[in-house]
Amino acid sequence: MVETVVVVGAGVYGAAVTASLARRGARAVVVDAGAPAGGTSGATFSWINSCGKQPRAYHELSVAGMEAHRRLAAEAPDGGWYHEGGNLEWADDDLGRERLRTKVAGVLAYGYDARWLSRAEVLGLEPGIDPARLPADEIAYFPREGWIEPAPLVHHLLSGALSRGAELVRGDAVTGLEVTGGRVRAVRLASGRRLPADAVVNCAGPQAARIAAFAGLVLPMRNASGVVVCTSAVAAVSVSRVVHGPRVHLRPDGAGRLLLHTPGIDGAVRASGAVEQSAIDELLEAGRALCPGLRAATVEDVRIGERPIPGDGLPVLGRVNELPNLHFAVSHSGVTLSVHAGDLVAGEVLGEDHGDILAPFRFERF
Ligand SMILES: Cc1cc2nc3c(=O)[nH]c(=O)nc-3n(C[C@H](O)[C@H](O)[C@H](O)COP(=O)(O)OP(=O)(O)OC[C@H]3O[C@@H](n4cnc5c(N)ncnc54)[C@H](O)[C@@H]3O)c2cc1C
Repeated sequence: MVETVVVVGAGVYGAAVTASLARRGARAVVVDAGAPAGGTSGATFSWINSCGKQPRAYHELSVAGMEAHRRLAAEAPDGGWYHEGGNLEWADDDLGRERLRTKVAGVLAYGYDARWLSRAEVLGLEPGIDPARLPADEIAYFPREGWIEPAPLVHHLLSGALSRGAELVRGDAVTGLEVTGGRVRAVRLASGRRLPADAVVNCAGPQAARIAAFAGLVLPMRNASGVVVCTSAVAAVSVSRVVHGPRVHLRPDGAGRLLLHTPGIDGAVRASGAVEQSAIDELLEAGRALCPGLRAATVEDVRIGERPIPGDGLPVLGRVNELPNLHFAVSHSGVTLSVHAGDLVAGEVLGEDHGDILAPFRFERF
């Protein structure tokens, strides 16, 4: 019988798994080498979506992830971390427009909510955007998408779990797993502490392959750097939803700040770990061009995260056949997925059968 479950990592996945375990009555111990939400979950764009996710099973998992966020926030007295304002996206060249048409047609065929808006309609939603930067029409709008504030979400999940008897160990890295007789028996920590475990869930994000290696397993990962730039607070900017323009992606980041991103800036992380200043300047300029109210803004924070990307790009979820009490909850798009996928994984740890849903995402496919 599973009584004590050690969860490795306290990002969005670890917090979601721990909360679900505690809600089901298990004793969960969540261990983080640093602080909760101090890893990738603290440096994310955190757009909640299933916009162009393939194959269908991944799309459905993401849609269920969106629904789980909506439900969790609605049920929580402090659910203000969840912002469902939709997402706007357009292109400025023929190839981009063709890709966007294909994407919209694809998600509509899956029954996902998407529609085309005109410039005038978009300006009604987002008056802070420079009209000259918008095409006259063919602006895609995905109304059920949104974004979340990761730190308050992680705090909510963990504080609920702690009030149900879970334990949080912070600032202590997992340095080994004791495996005998085809099962993980205990987790060893850098402090020398040994945590006996009936089951272990690997939620170590970009470090998941290292935790897997402690059990003799090879988890192929192709992690990549990601960067988001947070502006200073500007009263003149009134962006209220996720916006994907051709040269800049942005969303509110609370208290009058905006969070900026483009795929281009992800490639501007130097070997030293710093981000090239020219790329940051260019991104801020692109933000100012799109939203003139940003002219007075400066860069307040540059957040660098490591995207945890399993080898084939799809999530790795659920038990390992070879070691049936070791479980994975690792993926990119983890903010979208974690509340739902973490709950499925926690249920499986405690003997629930979610085999059909998790089948496409099992470790064994590698
Ligand atoms: C720039 C950027 C933009 C992104 N945009 C989006 C988006 O718009 N939408 C979306 O859904 N996703 C997005 N993602 C991806 C998403 O942020 C991640 O998938 C998600 O945050 C991963 O969460 P996690 O809990 O798995 O990992 P993490 O948040 O990294 O948590 C793992 C934790 O494990 C701990 N840990 C590691 N090794 C050990 C050890 N040995 N012992 C103990 N603890 C350990 C770490 O300290 C860390 O706290 C983005 C990522 C980046 C970087």
